[in-house]
Amino acid sequence: MVVTTQGLIRIIPDFPSPGIIFKDITPLLADKEVFAQCCKEIASLAQECDYIAGIEARGFIFAAAAAVMGNKGFIPIRKLGKLPGETISKSYELEYATATLEIHANLIPQGKRVLVVDDVLATGGTALAAVELIIAANLTPTGVVCLLDIPALGGKSRINEAHPDLQIQTLLAE
Ligand code: AMP
Repeated sequence: MVVTTQGLIRIIPDFPSPGIIFKDITPLLADKEVFAQCCKEIASLAQECDYIAGIEARGFIFAAAAAVMGNKGFIPIRKLGKLPGETISKSYELEYATATLEIHANLIPQGKRVLVVDDVLATGGTALAAVELIIAANLTPTGVVCLLDIPALGGKSRINEAHPDLQIQTLLAE
């Protein structure tokens, strides 16, 4: 199922830096029906999973709500230095910088199935790093769900080059 946004994604040019066309999800979050519909859809895509992982920060919003709705555990994938326990890290290239994501090591029993959730799929570097962290933590990624994709940036193919069998799904149609 595709959720219809009725213009609930605002386009903000040149944020946070020149040349970026930012997709602002805050109008969607403020719409209780569409927000709930998105989280329900993620929960239904996670039926075969044990956990839903959210990528900091906006991925947390959807992943945590979907985890509660779908009766799943929630796994935070956080930016560098935010998790207090032993972590596994993965660095990846952004356009003009390097970013690092982390997951807690030895927290979730080996082999559990995990759906990765974020708001926007752009170049795919962030979601790919999250998938690789799930694998490095001895867990099984079952797929990636993002609210929306920016197809021109090639995120889906970047992830599928590395993990051809991984399902990458997008929820929104405007
Ligand atoms: P990427 O690694 O290039 O796929 O970027 C995806 C991550 O950066 C997600 O966590 C998004 O929240 C954020 N992001 C990247 N580009 C945009 C954009 N144009 N609008 C909103 N968020 C974005």
